[in-house]
Amino acid sequence: MTTSELNSPGYDVPPEMQGQVSVTTLDRIFNFGQRWSLWPMMFGLACCAIEMMATAASRYDLARFGMEVMRPSPRQSDVMIVAGTVTKKMVPAIVRLYNQMPEPKYVVSMGACASGGGPFKEGYNVVAGIDKFLPVDVYIPGCPPTPQALLAGLIKLQEKVDRQTRSQNRWYQKGPDQVSIPIPILGPDLIDPRRIPEIKKTIADAARQAEAQAAQPAPEQSA
Ligand code: SF4
Repeated sequence: MTTSELNSPGYDVPPEMQGQVSVTTLDRIFNFGQRWSLWPMMFGLACCAIEMMATAASRYDLARFGMEVMRPSPRQSDVMIVAGTVTKKMVPAIVRLYNQMPEPKYVVSMGACASGGGPFKEGYNVVAGIDKFLPVDVYIPGCPPTPQALLAGLIKLQEKVDRQTRSQNRWYQKGPDQVSIPIPILGPDLIDPRRIPEIKKTIADAARQAEAQAAQPAPEQSA
């Protein structure tokens, strides 16, 4: 971004000072810094992760977008790229990692598996989309998405960052968005703690229905 791009619309800089002085807002400065230093977390789940690695290598070169610093720690990451099949066994770890990332933080769902289960959607061990648990900012279609598609998705994320305002950005507000996401429980099946009241109600309804059926007189048998 040049100094002229950093200028806020409506504030004209005299021609003799152009290229040296910018008149801008705090939001644009924040967003400028943030959009060019989105550090992804270094982890992958399945075949899509290979495409993610290719995107970071020299041919596609994520460094052009300020994203070359893939962090092995969630504490230093801004973007979680969910690259691959999300199994029920992995979801508690993914949510824990997300909770450990500092705010503001973003989630990119890379590929058909992460976005909706992909070819394994009906599998007993696969979650039909990471958005059942985490707030996804950008979805990237494909099986697998190409490095170009991942780059396009990350550019969309940068555009989203450009539109942020300090006064409305959810990370800087008080409210339920600030609360960590409860870690799902993996037992015989995966349970989202946020759905426990709904699950209890379904069980109670089923029990009531079974009781009502049992209380009905049995039909008479003909001789
Ligand atoms: S979307 Fe396709 S390439 Fe990506 S993890 Fe799933 S099966 Fe593999």
